[in-house]
Amino acid sequence: LDGISRVAGPDASKLTIILSDTLKPIPPRHTWSFGNVMTDHMVLAEFDPKTGWSSPEIRPRTPLNIDPASSCIQYGTTVFEGMKAYIGPDGEPRLFRPDMNMMRLAKSAERMALPPFDTDQVLALIKQLIIVDRRWIPLFSGYSLYIRPTLIGTRLGLSVAPSDHATLCIFLSPTGPYFRSGTKAISVLAESDIVRAWPGGTGGHKVALNYSSGFLPLRTAQKQGYQQILWLFGDDMKVTEAGAMNIFIVVRRDDGNVELLTPPLDGTILPGVTRDSVLDLAKGHTSGETILPGLLPTLRLLAQERAITMVDLRRWSADGKLLEAFGAGTAVIIASIGKIGYKGEDITLPVHEIGIGPIANAFRTRILDIQEGKEAWRNWSIPL
Ligand code: PMP
Repeated sequence: LDGISRVAGPDASKLTIILSDTLKPIPPRHTWSFGNVMTDHMVLAEFDPKTGWSSPEIRPRTPLNIDPASSCIQYGTTVFEGMKAYIGPDGEPRLFRPDMNMMRLAKSAERMALPPFDTDQVLALIKQLIIVDRRWIPLFSGYSLYIRPTLIGTRLGLSVAPSDHATLCIFLSPTGPYFRSGTKAISVLAESDIVRAWPGGTGGHKVALNYSSGFLPLRTAQKQGYQQILWLFGDDMKVTEAGAMNIFIVVRRDDGNVELLTPPLDGTILPGVTRDSVLDLAKGHTSGETILPGLLPTLRLLAQERAITMVDLRRWSADGKLLEAFGAGTAVIIASIGKIGYKGEDITLPVHEIGIGPIANAFRTRILDIQEGKEAWRNWSIPL
């Protein structure tokens, strides 16, 4: 953890587990939408500057008791993570690259001047919670148990200052395909007035205020029939992210190979675990280390982190070189983008029979297989 101070606790070896007397029935999966069904238990630990982290607890899930003058309510000191647990072919639960989520949570906490914590201990608590609520991990492919570790500032008082008190809460929600449309391509509206993130801001961290500040344009976009916002930045209208996904663009080259482009991590973009995984698999395919399903082994995917502007997208589209665009993130895994609205016009992408484009589908299939423990790759899938 470069530059992040390590602190003892919360100490997972001091965990107390209080089980719920009554376990909830698991609602049928067709009623699940993202994060609307919660499991039975949660992890709770509190940080006090005098005594440090309290002994953590797993206990029945209840509302938190928070004073209205708390830092998180008044000043939005909330940071969180999103990760998933899957059942492998051996019947055992697994996590996907959880160390990356822990590192990002620590960095988000630091950016909001929240108390630090020991990432290994928090991961140990997550694993314990999954074991307690294991019956909630769905067994169907494409379904998983979403994990939401959340750290909130609980300092009492209105002075505008860092929160030296905090509560760590971890809860779980069974989940299936993020979009109701399944793997059908989604539409995004490029937002040129409201910006999500700027250099030196908080865009590179997973902090709650990045999301709430995007709700107004999201509502407007959805009224116009688009599903997500494509966030832009700068006078040259650089593409940054789409909703809660990193964005990838596939451009045909004259030599028959393709360029796989995504904007660089310049502080305005969340460093996504899925983004990193796509880049690594693309490099593996091109070097012959692995072959992505459905793609020719001879196809070179030239992955590049570089700025992409709306002018670039329009030009590639006009030249017939814009093959695919897709979003990458834990919730969606990979979602093809079929339409990009921009200043009253739509850039439309080639339509594919199964909805998702072949390159997006290759990444989606491979990542899902690794997550579900069906394929091994670089120790990314970690049994508990
Ligand atoms: N960008 C934003 C703004 C996000 O909220 C997410 C979801 N965490 C992502 C990108 C994708 O990140 P990851 O692949 O780690 O889920």
